Amino acid sequence: LSPVPSDIEISRAQTPKPVDQLAQEIGLLQEETEAYGRTKAKVRLSLLDRLREQPDGKYVLVAGITPTPLGEGKSTVVIGLVQALSAHLKLNSFACLRQPSQGPTFGVKGGAAGGGYAQVIPMEEFNLHLTGDIHAITAANNLVAAAIDARMLHEATQKDKALYSRLVPSVNGVRRFSPIQIARLRRLGISEIDPSALMPQEVSSFVRLDLDPAKVTWQRVVDTNDRFLRKITVGQASTEKGHVRETQFDIAVASEIMAILALADGLGDMKTRLGRMVVGSSRSGQPVTAEDLGVSGALAVLMKDAIKPTLMQTLEGSPVFVHAGPFANIAHGNSSVLADKLALKLVGEDGFVVTEAGFGADIGMEKFFNIKCRASGLRPNVVVLVATVRALKMHGGGPNVSRPSILSVVWQRCALLTLQNLSLVVKGCSSNLRKQIQIAHLFGVPVVVALNVFKTDTQAEIDLVCQMAKESGASDAVPCHHWARGGRGSVELAQAVKQAGSQPSHFQFLYSQETPIVEKIRMIAQKVYGADDIELSPEAQAKIDYYNQQGYGKLPICMAKTHLSLSHLPEKKGTPTGFTLPIRDIRASIGAGFIYPLVGTMSTMPGLPTRPCFYDIDLDPVTEEITGLF
Ligand code: ADP
Repeated sequence: LSPVPSDIEISRAQTPKPVDQLAQEIGLLQEETEAYGRTKAKVRLSLLDRLREQPDGKYVLVAGITPTPLGEGKSTVVIGLVQALSAHLKLNSFACLRQPSQGPTFGVKGGAAGGGYAQVIPMEEFNLHLTGDIHAITAANNLVAAAIDARMLHEATQKDKALYSRLVPSVNGVRRFSPIQIARLRRLGISEIDPSALMPQEVSSFVRLDLDPAKVTWQRVVDTNDRFLRKITVGQASTEKGHVRETQFDIAVASEIMAILALADGLGDMKTRLGRMVVGSSRSGQPVTAEDLGVSGALAVLMKDAIKPTLMQTLEGSPVFVHAGPFANIAHGNSSVLADKLALKLVGEDGFVVTEAGFGADIGMEKFFNIKCRASGLRPNVVVLVATVRALKMHGGGPNVSRPSILSVVWQRCALLTLQNLSLVVKGCSSNLRKQIQIAHLFGVPVVVALNVFKTDTQAEIDLVCQMAKESGASDAVPCHHWARGGRGSVELAQAVKQAGSQPSHFQFLYSQETPIVEKIRMIAQKVYGADDIELSPEAQAKIDYYNQQGYGKLPICMAKTHLSLSHLPEKKGTPTGFTLPIRDIRASIGAGFIYPLVGTMSTMPGLPTRPCFYDIDLDPVTEEITGLF
């Protein structure tokens, strides 16, 4: 329809096929799915065993140029491309998307199911509770937090003190000693420890951890943009005997457990990673893990269903896996390894799996390659780089849309970006677009540029972007109209991707795991962002020394940098040069398996603006219809 109706109107106008029919169409056995209502089903991981011998399909990553705060349409491109590949080119194909946080849905950005005629449906189910994975993460995360505070209280209580120091290891229990526990037992004077011995649960729970309250790094989480939880004090009831401390809440998707869900390759691997999470350190400086707290088994129980990807469909009936959604700044911002693996098996050798990396290619794509592909062993065949005329004009020197919270100002400025201006487009293409293509080439993967066309773009602007993208090294560059026309609006993109997928991909990592931490950070800063060098704060240097000493030096790097610029300064558009990247601090997610340098200040708890999206959201109690979601 023209004009294009609202996302929720389009979503509601289409009747999704029953999920068991969809499951049957893509070759799943009845016992491999668990339905959640009529339109969603969890898919069991036993499928991977059944399809072990099946060759994988082609693996396509959708990334983008440095975006405006409004997003340049990566999710819509993922959906539009899969609709075009399946319904129009008749190729098996699958979309893999992240589950959105409830924070932005009720806050500023709105949902993340795509938009226009390129959406996952029903979009309200996609955007809200889905199958409860984020709730499971919240429960697991907060169980760890409760275990930490209760443990510090009990270890300090006079009555229990003796209990936590008298240790009698036995071989008849259920739990193995971790190296950290062995070191701790030795310090307590218990030297005869058989590392292969099993530790009885009751002994494990009485090892004295001696957690330093000032060094607890684990935070509580909730999936709401609740800025008043950015700093809180816990333990104020008299029953906590003065064990008061300052801590904070993060948004649930910033939990390390979410990053683990996205990187784990099975239940066993997830359980090991959950146990490895470091929650703080002891007064003597030893890391304390979830395993030390004796909570890892319970965490695995809470997460046992969340590990199964959720099957949904696009407006045109193509299959979609929705699974995991780690915060794209302090974590890697990619959907799950397991969803991609299952989808690659299901589409078979001639099929395509299209997955998305959050933010611009300098962030999402770099982390997709260096962290996710390293963890999964999967190798991408094609990168689709999404660009818009409005963002290119901004990079060419046009209005700088850099403050998402003042939406009216943003929209006003955007209006200026909607008038034809070829010289701004030229500058944007020769700066940011060219650089992002070069970044993808660093990893040896062919690039197709997808120009996501808005109704205000002129033909001259569209032709110019496609021509300049090819001159900058893209294998192909095509306009796409899926937002207004659905899959048929992206057929040209699907053909370009099919063609690029038949070329050899010479994938390589940017750095080897053996490279020292500082060098890894420097390589990303110089080769990807274009920085002259990096500058480490004394805190960052001290952390690097500590991580090396603890044996974490081989972990990959997950940069926590603004997505609004290639540099650390959000207002610097195009291709900034002549800057030194400051590394303020460094943290580690040992369970997820990466070290994350903080470039500037990163908020892990977004706030609500003066006019949040929730004002528009309503329910008709008679029809149960939801309005106002977009
Ligand atoms: P990203 O994944 O890059 O953040 P999305 O795909 O979520 O971006 O799109 C951001 C918003 O822009 C969505 O509300 C979407 O409906 C809208 N949008 C995307 N493409 C177009 C287009 N071509 N015309 C109009 N609106 C669009």
